[in-house]
Amino acid sequence: MLSLKIPRLFSIDQVPQVFHERGILFGYRHPQSSATACVLSLFQMTNETLNIWTHLLPFWFFVWRFVTALYVTDIQNDTYSWPLLVYMCTSCVYPLASSCAHTFSCMSKNARHICYFLDYGAVNLFSLGSAIAYSAYTFPEALVQTPFHDYYIVLAVLNTILSTGLSCYSRFLEIQKPRLCKVLRVLAFAYPYTWDSLPIFYRLFLFPDEDIENEATLYHQKHVVMTLLASVLYSAHLPECLAPGCFDYIGHSHQLFHVCVILATHLQMEAILLDKTLRKEWLMTAFKPFSFSQIAVAVMLQLTLSASYHIRQQRATMDYSRGAGRPWLTSRACALETLNPNKSLEKPSSLVGRSE
Ligand SMILES: [Zn+2]
Repeated sequence: MLSLKIPRLFSIDQVPQVFHERGILFGYRHPQSSATACVLSLFQMTNETLNIWTHLLPFWFFVWRFVTALYVTDIQNDTYSWPLLVYMCTSCVYPLASSCAHTFSCMSKNARHICYFLDYGAVNLFSLGSAIAYSAYTFPEALVQTPFHDYYIVLAVLNTILSTGLSCYSRFLEIQKPRLCKVLRVLAFAYPYTWDSLPIFYRLFLFPDEDIENEATLYHQKHVVMTLLASVLYSAHLPECLAPGCFDYIGHSHQLFHVCVILATHLQMEAILLDKTLRKEWLMTAFKPFSFSQIAVAVMLQLTLSASYHIRQQRATMDYSRGAGRPWLTSRACALETLNPNKSLEKPSSLVGRSE
């Protein structure tokens, strides 16, 4: 008779340190889960389940919006809409990469690092997509066709490459220097976001009167507030830091962070769509829209340099996890150590009962 065993969950003491989440005490999946077990965990309540769904469902929502936009756009001739399509495409990529990372991160230590490298790369790609849309539709009148506008995208590309490197590098500091790791990772995401948002800050805070009648302003304001809330939740680990063990499955900071990020993206998309429509006449006369080659070069540059950086980081991760400097450890011993780092390697019985 067929029977489906529900994978056993582990407490924080039973999984290697690299899998530990601050304030989360239980609900960890097996640190060497199979791909099938990872997919099945979507339907089992673990401490990652809502992290997966809070990005997987919005991914389909953004796909629907992207496909709808594609359907009503004359892609070949409507060059004015190209930046919007690039932005909408990147807004689909990052929730998908994130939900995949949260799904498959428990396959091994290496898999965990590689999953999150790809996640960070996708977030940075979205950051570049936002910069392309801002440059095309939301720049304040006073800054259009200035040197700042001219170099805005070039610097956004450089920022996203630096940010990808910094966020990936921060993973190597997770165990030895957790505070520095957190600071570097927050900085890696905050820096390109701040750069991308300078035109918005200029519109909102320096010359708000200029924009008083623009309906998009309200959405830009809400987007900024929601992003700030997301970054506070991400860096402070609230509320699980105040009550460890109480938010293992529902309500911990990473789930709230995911929800805030998605709401922020939705508000940003509304603001960009309004700017694109309401300012079209003026923008069409004020400056030349991007050419296809400009957009393609920016995206390809970001993808190529980030990919080469990812490959180097993955090699470094594999060397590190294979037990560099510990040649006496066989792969079997490494597996035992990964499963149960706090117990002696002489106790293979600890492997029994991967599922119950
Ligand atoms: Zn996440």
